Amino acid sequence: LMYETGQFSTLWKNMATKLGYDPIFIAGDWRRGVDANLIADALAKDTDHKIKAVCVVHNDTATGITSDIGAVRAAIDGTAHPALMMVDTISSLGSIDFKTDAWGVDVVVAGSQKGLMLPPGLSFNAISEKAWAACQAGGDRRSYWDWRDMMTPNDAGYFPYTPATTLLYGLREALDMLAGEGLEQVFARHERHASATRAAVESWGLEILAVNPDERSNSLTAVLMPDGQGGDALRAEILDGFDMSLGTGLNKVADKIFRIGHLGDFNDLMLMGTLSGVEMGMIRAGVPHQSGGAQSALKYLADHRI
Ligand SMILES: *Cc1c(COP(=O)(O)O)cnc(C)c1O
Repeated sequence: LMYETGQFSTLWKNMATKLGYDPIFIAGDWRRGVDANLIADALAKDTDHKIKAVCVVHNDTATGITSDIGAVRAAIDGTAHPALMMVDTISSLGSIDFKTDAWGVDVVVAGSQKGLMLPPGLSFNAISEKAWAACQAGGDRRSYWDWRDMMTPNDAGYFPYTPATTLLYGLREALDMLAGEGLEQVFARHERHASATRAAVESWGLEILAVNPDERSNSLTAVLMPDGQGGDALRAEILDGFDMSLGTGLNKVADKIFRIGHLGDFNDLMLMGTLSGVEMGMIRAGVPHQSGGAQSALKYLADHRI
């Protein structure tokens, strides 16, 4: 059972289909997070327990939407359904709080290339005892992601394959940086930068793609272009003028949005450079907006010093 919150949940669903599973994909409009009531309804109907896992994306990077994973847990528990819960945390881990144990997440999927501030190349799973038991009993063929191959050598600090040693050294540094700052502080820093970004967008008179304020991501902000304006032309103008590359709109929101990333290794000056670049780019590209967005972000940062 999967839920459409944007491109990354869609890609996950496509992967499941390719692997021969039969995913139920609860349709979404790319502007809202997971509605846990719809998860509960689908599980309640599944009296034969054909659904083996509920898979949701914590922070859908294509839409800038963060879903309430605790509510998904409550929905599963409320129906007493035995499905595993699997969560993609690739663009939230290390930037937005994630409570693996408190939310009873059975499989956490993470990667090196977002909030962990590393190049791409490492992926991580955290797995519960229940998921481990399902792995050992499971009948599907697998090799690359067979946790069983990994578990035994890992006990002694080894890998079943050649490990990406350079990335692991990088990971040690990244984790030291996060621990040195303190996770609470890291999350507060991203919350503050996201709030300042949202203040800028509001002052520009533009709309944030995420409709519900409590689902607006602290990792990135997806901004809707005004009617008749293309996001990609604005992105090209900003890239050309300032060497700054903004995220594009993917799939259903292609050319309709641009995305401002504020995750990972990020500080006030980087944010202000970014927002100034967006504002100057809108002027250059002739995108209608109200001036003063960057100024609003400056004010937010000054009023919320940490
Ligand atoms: C980046 C990302 C991925 C993985 O992207 P790849 O480019 O395919 O490695 C998966 N899920 C989310 C939410 C992401 O942000």
